[in-house]
Amino acid sequence: MKVGIIGAGQLGRMLALAGYPLGISCTFLDRSATAPGGLVSDILVGELDDAEQLDTLATQVDVVTFEFENIPVTALERAGASAPVYPSIAALAAAQDRLEEKRLFESIGMQTAAYVTVDAAEDLEGVGKALGWPVVLKARRLGYDGRSQRVATSEKDLEVAWAELDCVPAIAESWVEFERELSLIGARGGDGDIVFYPLSENVHDNGILSTTIAPFEDRTLQQIAERWVSEIMERFEYRGVLAVEFFHTEAGLVGNEMAPRVHNSGHWTIEGAETSQFENHLRAVVGLPLGNTAPRGCAAMLNIIGRMPDSAALLRIPGAHLHDYCKEPRPNRKLGHCTLVGPDRPSVSERLSRLMAIVD
Ligand code: AMP
Repeated sequence: MKVGIIGAGQLGRMLALAGYPLGISCTFLDRSATAPGGLVSDILVGELDDAEQLDTLATQVDVVTFEFENIPVTALERAGASAPVYPSIAALAAAQDRLEEKRLFESIGMQTAAYVTVDAAEDLEGVGKALGWPVVLKARRLGYDGRSQRVATSEKDLEVAWAELDCVPAIAESWVEFERELSLIGARGGDGDIVFYPLSENVHDNGILSTTIAPFEDRTLQQIAERWVSEIMERFEYRGVLAVEFFHTEAGLVGNEMAPRVHNSGHWTIEGAETSQFENHLRAVVGLPLGNTAPRGCAAMLNIIGRMPDSAALLRIPGAHLHDYCKEPRPNRKLGHCTLVGPDRPSVSERLSRLMAIVD
């Protein structure tokens, strides 16, 4: 089987690597031949919405998927004329617009942060009254890893924040006091079968994922989250991996956002679960049965951001698995990650602290 992947970042790279044992070959489309995926598999070079390259890609493969959220919907529609595209383009469209995403969450009864829309300067006036302070102002489109969002503590602050976002359509969201952040990753196969990984506990720094520890064991929360994510998957006749991020608050789970793709908070599944999220995504899109998602004990994942540490020092930590995406270092850029697996949380947490000291 041949899979076309739009976007050749680290997510694409890990998809391609997961394909090798299964005899699945991946071809990418991305702007640079030296993108992380292009270093491990074939790549077509062009803009992600380059019509000619999309046609070439889609006619070469059995199925097209994507690893990046901000791909123009029109590009996927173009590819869809020559090959099936999974997950569904409608799911991607909903995830690309924070307002649509909120409405989707509300429609399935998922709790979300209270919000108001900001389309014009007049809309800023009522925000404090409606939501209290602080608020998080988020551009409706093209935001990820905390980009295109600002925290505002007053109306004056909010005006500055909106100007910094170039006055684009946005939503202002009430500040959520959460105990922790959790995410649920599931996969739906071609036969409609759905599997879930256990909830992962995530720590963000400056809006960027820093660490994940899994499993986060809470049967009630797991069941609630699985019910919601199943509903989203059924609604879109979804095929592939879907991730939803939650705030865990006193009042339960509050949905934050979804990603219709493999997700950073699921990188631990490569070594920490029977079948990785990357393999399950490929299995889903090519129509193979989904694999067992059971964790192999407890896993911790640490993102390497901005600068690669001394890999020898890192690999001296027993059981440390390094993934170097072979990217040029740049501030705030995800360059790699490291995973630890152990029998229980205390043993993994102790090694994670050692890892953090080296990576910092
Ligand atoms: P997002 O891009 O929406 O995932 O936001 C990135 C991170 O910012 C989240 O993972 C949270 O740590 C934080 N954040 C986003 N929205 C809120 C909110 N309404 N209240 C508190 N923290 C937030």
